[in-house]
Amino acid sequence: MITLAGKAALVTGASRGIGAGIALSLAASGAEVAVNYSGSQSKAEEVVRQIISEGGSAFAVQASVEKPDRVKALFAALHARNFEPDILVNNAGITRDNLFIRLSDEDFETVISVNLKGAIYCTREALPAMLRKGYGKVINISSVVGYSGNPGQANYSASKGALAAFSRSCAAEFGYGGVRVNTVAPGFIKTDMTAALPEEIKKGMLSSIPLGRAGTAEEVANAVNWLASPLSDYVTGQTLHINGGMYL
Ligand code: NAP
Repeated sequence: MITLAGKAALVTGASRGIGAGIALSLAASGAEVAVNYSGSQSKAEEVVRQIISEGGSAFAVQASVEKPDRVKALFAALHARNFEPDILVNNAGITRDNLFIRLSDEDFETVISVNLKGAIYCTREALPAMLRKGYGKVINISSVVGYSGNPGQANYSASKGALAAFSRSCAAEFGYGGVRVNTVAPGFIKTDMTAALPEEIKKGMLSSIPLGRAGTAEEVANAVNWLASPLSDYVTGQTLHINGGMYL
């Protein structure tokens, strides 16, 4: 059985979708969870309410992860309440899809800033306490398209492929200090992000999944929960693909 009792977990982008599922799952296993959000305050507070109503412990914390000064302020606020994450889940992510030649500089910069730099800034702030304790878990949420590539997502797939490479380098660099760094690469998961896709794209994606359906936030959260737990203490630098066989 997975128990995270006594652990502090920060989940970025936990107001909705996969991040909310991860926050609920880690809290159900006993971790105290910092539910980060960017703009959706009421949704983040709803996640916190649900966790508390189920007997868990959580609080909401605002910060846009793509801004290094905001991430510093976020960790200062956590520090002020004696909350030093043992578990960091870099989940916050966005898309700005278009054909490569139509992607603007801003489409590239925004996606790389949130999806890649956000994870880098949060990891940088979380590491010192983890190294001091000699134990930590960093889990980066990449994507199937970081591995397979995808037309219309050059910016997004570049951010997600780079995030996986960043994870492997951190795993190699910080294993000595007891910090495990792994990647979870979801496939096609039912959330607001995929609800926004045109119907024909959704149909095409569904038809490429051997298990014949989209995944759920809870199914991604199960993998994160295992990676966050002591059950995976000899696992670092790896990617867990949660995609129904979409990419083999
Ligand atoms: P989603 O439903 O669109 O939710 C995105 C979350 O990220 C929200 O909580 C949002 O917070 C937060 N966020 C966005 N920009 C942020 C910022 N600058 N700072 C902090 N938080 C920010 O997305 P999702 O589908 O759950 O995706 C979650 C992660 O899984 C992303 O990294 C995504 O790339 C990855 N992923 C998703 C799929 C899929 O099929 N859904 C597949 C592969 C990978 P606010 O609501 O406060 O803005």
